[in-house]
Amino acid sequence: MIAKLVGVHMPIKNGLGGAIRQGHKIGCTAVQVFTKSPQLWKAKPISDEMVADYKLACSETGISSVMCHDSYLINLAAAGEELREKSIAGLTDEMNRCAQYGITLLNSHMGAHVGQGVDEGIRLLIKGAKSALENSDPSVMLVMETTAATGTSLGATFEQLRAVLDGLHGDKRVAVCIDTCHIFAAGYDIRTAETFNQTFTKFDEIVGFDRLVGVHCNDSIGGLGSKKDRHAHVGEGEIGEEGFRILVNDKRFEFIPIMLETPIENEGHERDLAKLKSF
Ligand SMILES: [Zn+2]
Ligand SMILES: [Zn+2]
Repeated sequence: MIAKLVGVHMPIKNGLGGAIRQGHKIGCTAVQVFTKSPQLWKAKPISDEMVADYKLACSETGISSVMCHDSYLINLAAAGEELREKSIAGLTDEMNRCAQYGITLLNSHMGAHVGQGVDEGIRLLIKGAKSALENSDPSVMLVMETTAATGTSLGATFEQLRAVLDGLHGDKRVAVCIDTCHIFAAGYDIRTAETFNQTFTKFDEIVGFDRLVGVHCNDSIGGLGSKKDRHAHVGEGEIGEEGFRILVNDKRFEFIPIMLETPIENEGHERDLAKLKSF
């Protein structure tokens, strides 16, 4: 494995500091966290102690590559004004929470057009993102996660990501995170060297590697183009080991944080992490 930044989405029951320490213990060199419950709108304020403990954990462990994942409730392209405004405020708050910790990357699913059509969805998404960027700390980047094309979710094609980047006039605070399960379920094959290279040549042409700041490293329970967002352990899903072996040995991904979001039962993360390192 030539990838230098490999890790796991860690639980925060012992705070973000606890997530970093536990991640280090199981062999992470990068960590993903939530700063609040992803199922709720409301969030506990962040105290100075919470920030201090997080920063101490980072310096103790040497982990500096940390990405935050936003709430699942946020939909910048929601059909109703009220939910849309709530989503924009929620995203802005998530970005400012990151800034409090000194985390520079906030990964977001951005939204779904819920029947309004892709074009209208993208338009609303751009409008919402623009507002969140304007009203949040400039140290934090908004990272659009590729989706599995489930339902009406946006961001499932490289062209849609490009449309958002263009709509935000190439704002340098906007970046992209590839979820291997999601792109595979959305129809991008990465199972062999040939298909992997085809997919990432296309990604580079349309989105650009200069915009890539993270990878979610998940195998897929659903088949190619199944549109199912169901994560499997590395090598145990429809993608299979080969695609991941290629990923962690590709020079282009050497310094991109590659993070597992696979099931945690039976020390699943440790197994998946060990497997990646063996490649
Ligand atoms: Zn996600
Ligand atoms: Zn993901």
